[in-house]
Amino acid sequence: MKRLVLWDVDGTLLSTDGIAANAMRTALRQLVGPEVRIERTSYAGKTDWQIVRDSLPSLDEATIQARLREFIDLYVSELSAQREALIARSTVFAGVMAALSALTDYAYQAPLTGNVAAAARIKLECTGLLPWLDIEAGAYGDDHFDRLALPPIAARRAESRYRRAFTPAEVVIIGDTPRDIACGKAFGARTVAVATGPFSMAELADHRPDALLPDLSNTDAVLAAVLG
Ligand SMILES: [Mg+2]
Repeated sequence: MKRLVLWDVDGTLLSTDGIAANAMRTALRQLVGPEVRIERTSYAGKTDWQIVRDSLPSLDEATIQARLREFIDLYVSELSAQREALIARSTVFAGVMAALSALTDYAYQAPLTGNVAAAARIKLECTGLLPWLDIEAGAYGDDHFDRLALPPIAARRAESRYRRAFTPAEVVIIGDTPRDIACGKAFGARTVAVATGPFSMAELADHRPDALLPDLSNTDAVLAAVLG
């Protein structure tokens, strides 16, 4: 039986060289105007929704919820305006294409990312990765603010796409931060951590992923890590 492999995007498959983070800061400023303080916060492993909450601590939850769609529209339009830069400056990490290709025989593959769905699509399109991932079977930062809530959403979508259920044991979550590992564990999925983001091998090891890789450059090692 094919498994369901859910890939984090930023820091795991690719880097946008800060373009997306800048687009997000621009959109936050457009959303709240010049007066409201925007807190600097780490984006790693967080959903975009969570980043909006953490960046605007003076706004209450109801206000955040009411204005989230407006933020997403501003952010996605800013990101779309940066398409040429994204194509020119984004990096797909070593081994990613080979890993995605090698896993197609064994798994359905979809994103599980803090990116809002439209932003994930733009990043994957601009880096040529979109054909490898089933965007309709993924889960995104506009589905929930809490990454821990995303795996069951992806599993449900995959079930309706492929007309079969995936038990947590048949799901693999791959990511570059402790939050990726935590959301996989909360769901009961197999977790694979890769140290191509801001966290070192030692930092990731503290969170006890089922497998840990320095990067995705060794396709045999990736297959072994993912398939167990
Ligand atoms: Mg990441």
